[in-house]
Amino acid sequence: RHWQLTLPFGYLVGAARHPDRPAIVDELGSLSYAQVAERTARLAAGFAGMGVRAGDTVAVLCRNHRGLVEAAVATARLGAHTALLNTGLSATQVAAVLREQDASLVVADAEFRPLLRTAPRKARRVIAWQDGPTRSTTLAELIAAAPAGPPPRPDRHGRLVVLTSGTTGTPKGARRPHPRGLSAPAALLSRIPLRHGRPLLVAAPLFHTWGLAGLQLGLVLGATLVLRRRFDAERLLADIAGHRVDSVFAVPVMLQRVLELPHEIRHAHDVSSLRVVACSGSALPAPVAADFQRRFGPVLYNVYGSTEVSWVSVATPAELRAAPHTAGRPPVGTRVRLLDEHGRPVPAGQPGRIFVANSMLFEGYTDGAAKEVRQGLMATGDVGRLEPSGLLAVVGRDDEMIISGGENVYPREVEDVIAGLPGVREAAVLGVPDERYGQRLAAYVVRADGAELDADAVRGHVRERLARFCVPRDVVFLDALPRNATGKVLKRALGTD
Ligand code: ATP
Repeated sequence: RHWQLTLPFGYLVGAARHPDRPAIVDELGSLSYAQVAERTARLAAGFAGMGVRAGDTVAVLCRNHRGLVEAAVATARLGAHTALLNTGLSATQVAAVLREQDASLVVADAEFRPLLRTAPRKARRVIAWQDGPTRSTTLAELIAAAPAGPPPRPDRHGRLVVLTSGTTGTPKGARRPHPRGLSAPAALLSRIPLRHGRPLLVAAPLFHTWGLAGLQLGLVLGATLVLRRRFDAERLLADIAGHRVDSVFAVPVMLQRVLELPHEIRHAHDVSSLRVVACSGSALPAPVAADFQRRFGPVLYNVYGSTEVSWVSVATPAELRAAPHTAGRPPVGTRVRLLDEHGRPVPAGQPGRIFVANSMLFEGYTDGAAKEVRQGLMATGDVGRLEPSGLLAVVGRDDEMIISGGENVYPREVEDVIAGLPGVREAAVLGVPDERYGQRLAAYVVRADGAELDADAVRGHVRERLARFCVPRDVVFLDALPRNATGKVLKRALGTD
């Protein structure tokens, strides 16, 4: 079976068609498509000199910058596999992933060196981004030292290993097939009107499936990718203004942070070039969707998907205006079904387990495990409901459902209601063991700056809007919610507090 990455494809086609167009803009400046093609050829030679062969695995532990992209492209040019590591992992998790992937090289930013302390010795180290002097080999040195000219063509294609967020435990490596031709990106384009050759800012981490989608689509579209190592809300607006950014790929918490900026800062930047803000990676709280559209106009697309099944559905700005809690409709070539626990379709309006079929379904975890498949459709692990309008609402993860006094509660609905209460910055809801009801609801609430809010106000607000059994008995105020590197709330960390 042959696999191919779109990464070199995008660059090499881009280098031939528009060699002088900037391909990457980051803190080090700008690189054209031709430069990236040449630098990745040299880097591939450098990696080969370090012993990397077709079929080997190169692990990458980097923030968003040219080094991650070039390391991945160079690896693919050798026919080797690229494993993209989440920068939020612990040293133990990094070591476990490197061992599981049998990595022979790890390309990491200098700041993540402490995470490699317990890494297997086999994996040789290369520093991708250097903040100070280093005695290790750097990508820049490899690029400078290697001869120019295309690397030899490999006899096979490398795969891309994307890791899940690890929200429910240790991150799992998901082997991804090559998106067949242009069909997979084109599917997303059927719902998100990205344009050819425009500046695209990928704020979502590139190691995550959503940042990677931005990268791959950007390359196919000949975009100029604007990358920043760290997310900063004001910087995002300054970059949109400075580079006349057309589209942004983000995760929900980034939109939240932009909305929290003081009015003067938000209005200090000209963001009139912005046409698309595509958001995915975790649930987009309905109040955030509504507020974002009010402030920035009809630019927001809510994309529902996961590492395993790529994208499932997209809500357009118009759909979000009508129903800010929705995840919209599937793109072309994607089938979505809601099934009950016996695999039967659920009636419209009823919650059901979300199953999906598209050309991007993963091939299984690298440890050999798989996801449940029924009637050719793969389980997403989420529960959803089809609204009368035909739009899909993602109710929550099926393992997060709370059964309180025999009633089923999905935390997301309660979280959205609490987040809509003035004075609340953000909220997370989970079930905690309860002697009488089996489980009861606990709400963890972060107040907006200066807001005075007590537990009764939170309970009263929910009581007025939802069923009695949705009212949280415990209300805990926190300074911040624990989040992973992709901004997803770590509910397990809350539950054990
Ligand atoms: P792990 O499998 O290790 O627990 P994870 O499932 O959190 O990690 P991801 O693939 O990053 O890893 O997350 C996908 C999940 O995020 C989806 O299954 C869904 O629960 C949630 N999600 C993503 N996008 C949306 C969205 N637009 N609306 C609602 N939920 C979303």
